[in-house]
Amino acid sequence: MSLIELSPATRSFLSKDKKILIGKDWVNPSADSGIDVINPSDGKQLARIADAAQADVDRAVAAARHAFDEGPWPQMKPGARARLLQQIADAMEAAHEELSQLETLDTGKPINLARGDVFAAIGAMRYYAGWADKITGTTHNINMPGDHHVYTIKEPAGVAALIVPWNYPIVMAAMKLGPCLAAGCTAVLKPAEDTSLTALRMGEIFLDAGLPEGVLNIVTGYGHSVGSALANHPGVDKIAFTGSTQTGKTIAHAAADGLKKVSLELGGKSPNIIMPDADLEKAIPSSAMGIFWNSGQTCTAPSRLYVHEDIIDKVIEGIGAVGASLKIGQGMDEDSQIGPLISQRQFDRVTGYLDTGMEEGAEIAVGGKRHGDDGYFLEPTIINRTDNSMRIVREEIFGPVLVTQSFKDEEEAIALANDSDYGLAGAIWTQDISRAHKMAKRLRAGIIGVNTAMGADWDVPLGGYKQSGVGRENGKDGLELYLQTKSVFTAL
Ligand code: NAD
Repeated sequence: MSLIELSPATRSFLSKDKKILIGKDWVNPSADSGIDVINPSDGKQLARIADAAQADVDRAVAAARHAFDEGPWPQMKPGARARLLQQIADAMEAAHEELSQLETLDTGKPINLARGDVFAAIGAMRYYAGWADKITGTTHNINMPGDHHVYTIKEPAGVAALIVPWNYPIVMAAMKLGPCLAAGCTAVLKPAEDTSLTALRMGEIFLDAGLPEGVLNIVTGYGHSVGSALANHPGVDKIAFTGSTQTGKTIAHAAADGLKKVSLELGGKSPNIIMPDADLEKAIPSSAMGIFWNSGQTCTAPSRLYVHEDIIDKVIEGIGAVGASLKIGQGMDEDSQIGPLISQRQFDRVTGYLDTGMEEGAEIAVGGKRHGDDGYFLEPTIINRTDNSMRIVREEIFGPVLVTQSFKDEEEAIALANDSDYGLAGAIWTQDISRAHKMAKRLRAGIIGVNTAMGADWDVPLGGYKQSGVGRENGKDGLELYLQTKSVFTAL
C-alpha cells in the first residue's frame, strides 16, 4: 500500500478552523459546539466542523434574502453571470487535486473516483454557466377578445435552500449550485454532517472568484437541527434536497407548510434485468461496477438483479469474480478501487441488513464480511435466495450489496422489477433492440439503461417515479426548478 502525499494546500485547509459562511464572512456559529470529521478509511479524526444553530440559519437566510432582494446577482446581465460561473469552474479546476484529496479524506472514496467526482462537479458548473444566458420566455397568440401582446418571463425563484447528502458531496453541491446560480437565485447550502469539507472549500473558491456577497451562504450541522431550520425557514422560497426518502417526506411537509417550491431526489432500489440473449461480456462487468462502485452508496445503483433462469448461475459467478477482483483499500491509496462505507452508523446499518436477510431465509453467495480492522470496509456482497417480499429486496441498503433472483420470461421480469416502492432507475440487457425499448417503456422508473447499468450526464434529466422523488435535476429541467414563470398581458 502506498498512500499519496497530501498536498500543501490540502494540509493548509485541514489545519484551519472550520467556520460557516454568512454573506462574505467566515464566522463562528452562535453556540460553541462542533462535529468531529472522521476519515472513514481509518476511523480517525480529520478535522472539526461547526455545528450551527437556528440563529445561524436565520443569519444565513437573511444574507441570502438581502443578496436576492437588494443585491446585484438576480439583475446581473446573463452573460456576466455566465462568465463568473465559468471563472468559478476555472478556479475549481486549479484546485482540482486539493478538492479531490479533501473529498477522499472526508468520504473514504478512492482518490481516482474522487478526482472523477471533482471533474464532474466542474462539468456541472460549466454546463449551467452555458444556460445562464439562454433563459427565455415565450410569446402567445391568445383567445381572449381584443388585441393583446402576451409574453412570459422566466425569473429566479428567490432564496434556495440546498440540502445535500454524503455519497457524492461535491457533485451533489455543484449539481444544485450550478442551476441555482445560473438562474439568478441566491443560496444557503447545507452539506451533510459527515462530509462538509469540499463544500466549505468551494465556498472559499466561489468568493475568491468574485461571487457577490450573500449569493452563497454555507451552514454546517445536523439535519434534524440545521437542515430542518432551513427547510422550515419563511425566508426560503425553494428547497432542493437529495437524500433518503424518509427525510424527503419530512422536507415535503416543511415545503407544504410554507408553500415553497420543492424538488426531491430520493432513494432507489433499482432493478437490473438480464435477458437470456444479453451480451454477458458487457453485462457482467457493468452490473458489478454499477452496484459495487462507490461501495454501493449511489442512489441509482442497480441493486436488484433479475436474471433469466438459464444464465443466472453464470452471471452471479461472473459478478462475484469481478467483485472479488476489486482492490479494497484506503481512499488515499491510488490502487484502491473500493473504499469504506461513510461511517460506523452506515456500516452498522448495512451489516444489519445482511443479518436481516439471513433471518428472512436468504443466503450470502459472495462476500458479506468486514475487510480489515480499521475503517468501515465491507466486501462486495451478493445475496441469493431472495424474493420481493423480503426487506433486503424492498429497502435501500446503500452498500455494496446485490440481491438476486431468477425469472422465466419477460412478463415476470417486468412484474418483479416494477414491484417496488421506488422508481429511480432500471437497466435492461438484451441484444434485441426492439424488445429493449418495449421493456424500457414498461419500467416505472426515471432513468433507464439499455445495455448499460450506469448512465448520467448533466444534459439528461435525473429523478424518480414513486417514492424516489419529485422533479428532475440536470438539463433544462434542472434549471426550471430554480425559475418562476411570469405571464404578462398587454392590451393593445
Ligand atoms: P438523510 O436523508 O438523513 O441526509 C441527507 C441530508 O439531509 C443531510 O445533509 C442531512 O443532514 C439532511 N437532513 C437530515 N434530516 C433532515 C431534516 N429533518 N430536515 C432537513 N434536512 C435533513 O440521509 P442519511 O440519514 O445520512 O442516510 C440514510 C439513508 O439515506 C442511507 O442509508 C441511504 O439509504 C439514503 N441516502 C440516499 C441518498 C441518495 O442520494 N438517494 C443519499 C444519502 C443517503
